[in-house]
Amino acid sequence: MTETLVPFAEATERYEPVIGLETHVELGTRTKMFCGCTTGFGAEPNSQVCPVCLGLPGSLPVINVKSIEYTIRIGLALNCQIASWCRFARKNYFYPDMPKDFQISQYDEPLCTDGYLDVEVDGETVRIGIERVHLEEDTGKSLHVGGATGRIHGAEYSLVDYNRAGIPLVEIVTKPVPGTGAGAPVVARAYVTELRDLLRSLGVSDVRMEEGSLRCDVNTSIAPRGATAWGTRTETKNVNSLRSVERAVYFEIERQAAVLDAGGRIVQETRHFHEDSGTTTSGRSKEEAQDYRYFPEPDLVPVAPDAEWVEQLRAALPEAPSARRARLRAEWDLSESDMTALSNAGALDLVAGTVTAGASPADARKWWLGELARRANEAAQELKDLPITPAQVARVAALVTAGTLNDKLARQVIDAVLAGEGGPDEVVKARNLAVVSDDAALTAAVDDAIAASPDVVARIRDGKLNAAGVLVGAVMKATRGQADAARVRELILERLS
Ligand SMILES: [Zn+2]
Repeated sequence: MTETLVPFAEATERYEPVIGLETHVELGTRTKMFCGCTTGFGAEPNSQVCPVCLGLPGSLPVINVKSIEYTIRIGLALNCQIASWCRFARKNYFYPDMPKDFQISQYDEPLCTDGYLDVEVDGETVRIGIERVHLEEDTGKSLHVGGATGRIHGAEYSLVDYNRAGIPLVEIVTKPVPGTGAGAPVVARAYVTELRDLLRSLGVSDVRMEEGSLRCDVNTSIAPRGATAWGTRTETKNVNSLRSVERAVYFEIERQAAVLDAGGRIVQETRHFHEDSGTTTSGRSKEEAQDYRYFPEPDLVPVAPDAEWVEQLRAALPEAPSARRARLRAEWDLSESDMTALSNAGALDLVAGTVTAGASPADARKWWLGELARRANEAAQELKDLPITPAQVARVAALVTAGTLNDKLARQVIDAVLAGEGGPDEVVKARNLAVVSDDAALTAAVDDAIAASPDVVARIRDGKLNAAGVLVGAVMKATRGQADAARVRELILERLS
């Protein structure tokens, strides 16, 4: 079925979107939320389980204090109020991947409330309000086997893996974000990007969207421009890449505009996002569904973080990514767009590491955004996954500055490092790649070049010194690029004077 859509530009001319984002973050604690099971990704199914996280009768949960600490740090970094007293709640629903058939979560007493995160979009700051940050346990994972789509429909049977059940999960819910107009999809993406970078800087999660440790539900509604009330929102579930966050908002605006134009109404529902087509389809209706029958979790004591501890955690927060970017931009003397290019290429930390290892900011940028970006692109790899370290890049830059390597030789050294032949110094030694500026070693090649081109020699003797470039080129070729070009030119002119 093809949906009727209103082209995005037209839709946002007549309708005003409101977006909201609910982000689930798996915390990187060593053990689970309420038991001592380990949390590593990709282990043999059902190998990281115990009576507590399987919800066996008689087992009792004990709170992992590290998960409380991580959640408070997230709340503080998002400028939230931290509750001095709060309780966990039971959220009752029936899913095969949830062993207890209830989830321990937080309901009306979240740990962190009322904060914000500032994001930069096209040089302007958009403040995204944070409604709440709460802590809960993750569910297990169902695997549907035998169907074409990996979804339950059409599957022959399903398997359940409880390794993920009980891993601490933080949910970060924004306030509704109105007023972004046609920028709504980009703002949604910028928020998730900034949030991911912030969480990474806190060291509380590995924030890998592709592995599901960062998952996003994207709420979108539209209302005719000038309307006093917001429209009915849909919730697109488990969007698992930054690009998809942007596309999901974009598509929902086009789809909802068409429904409203046709005189229909938007149903409040969850929707699935399809990576291949960039579209969403209806999931379950929220109107008939949800009565979670929340009540305070009777097996756990309330959480009452000590105010002094919270202040210690606040004082120990690392520099926020936005502040770090502003500082580095000033230190490196870059324009806003240069800095954006660096961030978008995933090169910020690499360049910073290379500068720390002694390279100039200009050299560090040149190698990472030039030669190395090209190699990463050819290998369809992320820049950070290339088998070369910032310290090695800094060493190559230092060898060029010292005159030991020219750019051409430096590229050969980088090739060899990427091929696993060792560090820059080892490669230079093993391949004998250093620039040759020793006169004795160059003289023979210079004499050969002079002997081979009497016509060029005649022009130089006539005073056309630029013609020496031809002879320099011949010497460079003969020495496989290793000669010191400036010294070669001097030697040629000395010989012919
Ligand atoms: Zn367990």
